[in-house]
Amino acid sequence: METSLSLSVRQVPFFNYGLLFTSQEEELVGIFREVGRRGAFIDQKDLKDFEKRLCDFTGARFALGVANGTDALIIALKAAGLSKGDEVIFSSHTFVATAASIVHAGGVPVAVECGKDHMIDPASVERAITPKTRAILPTQLNGRTCDMDRLQALADKHGLFIIEDAAQGLGSKFKGKSAGTFGLAGTISFYPAKNLGSLGDGGAILTNDEKMYEKMSWMRDHGRDPKLNQVVVWGFNSRLDNLQAAILDFKLKRYDEAIHRRREIASLYHEYLSGLKELTLPPAPGSEANHFDVFQNYEIEAERRDELKEFLKSKGVGTLIQWGGTAVHQFKELGLNASLPYTEKLFMRLLMLPLHNLLKDEEVKYVCQVIRDFYRP
Ligand SMILES: *Cc1c(COP(=O)(O)O)cnc(C)c1O
Repeated sequence: METSLSLSVRQVPFFNYGLLFTSQEEELVGIFREVGRRGAFIDQKDLKDFEKRLCDFTGARFALGVANGTDALIIALKAAGLSKGDEVIFSSHTFVATAASIVHAGGVPVAVECGKDHMIDPASVERAITPKTRAILPTQLNGRTCDMDRLQALADKHGLFIIEDAAQGLGSKFKGKSAGTFGLAGTISFYPAKNLGSLGDGGAILTNDEKMYEKMSWMRDHGRDPKLNQVVVWGFNSRLDNLQAAILDFKLKRYDEAIHRRREIASLYHEYLSGLKELTLPPAPGSEANHFDVFQNYEIEAERRDELKEFLKSKGVGTLIQWGGTAVHQFKELGLNASLPYTEKLFMRLLMLPLHNLLKDEEVKYVCQVIRDFYRP
């Protein structure tokens, strides 16, 4: 790589929240004005349109907009009939919300290891199964879908259900099938920094099961069944704002382009960094027949991770250590008491490089050049 290439670049922030708005300001203000003038704020046509588009995009039979990705998990687990004391197995390399949703749905979270690709490790899942296990809650982490065949085989063998935390996985696929459509239900987050980000909080639940869909649609709206005009279950106020839905619908129409760009950037990182033996990179796009990854994050493993992070910072490059560097089972106050040596060791090495669809090639090259300078001064 030529050194001169990147001289014009000096700053690469990890993420730019303002760009989410300014890069499409005209269109977004137009949507706000149009929806506002219709007074269409709660449960209106724009929400229905967006849910329909989510179904078309993912191949799910049903999609339900909810207030955020965490509510999505709680509602899905409750609708699936999780009851007090039921154990639910999850990978400790996830957001605390994955485990919290199990607790709030009355269950007991059981943390297990992730594997080399940072996804839940099926062998570790199998070891954790007890007579109390009811479900597996895999996280479709970093924009990648787990090997769902292996998880489904375990679920079938032990009579468990699967709910997917696909908060980071919208559009990713395993064997051509979309994240969020494998289990009894799958949940998506539209937190601004997520691949499909709203201008605030938002989430969705996907399912192919009509009974689940019906129950979850009651639960997101105070337990009300509109057909009976009756409250039929204890519910929540967890509707996706109609304005956010209108914005998300607009963005989902252009989402394939955004994914394409993310995969291009991941390929660039791969091209410029794969020669460094101090790093372990995510699989390059297109390198595995069963996986289509959408790169919510570009999470690498790095030797001397903390020093590298500081060096990048000194050169104007923002990076992030996912979950603040603590796996869920390591939060002492939560009392999970698991020992997961692989995950614990991995967490000393993880680092996320800037990756969003507005990142320029020169910026990616600059990041790579700084990393090479660090390891090969
Ligand atoms: C973002 C995220 C969530 C939570 O989504 P919110 O919309 O912020 O509630 C849950 N799980 C994972 C893996 C996430 O990345």
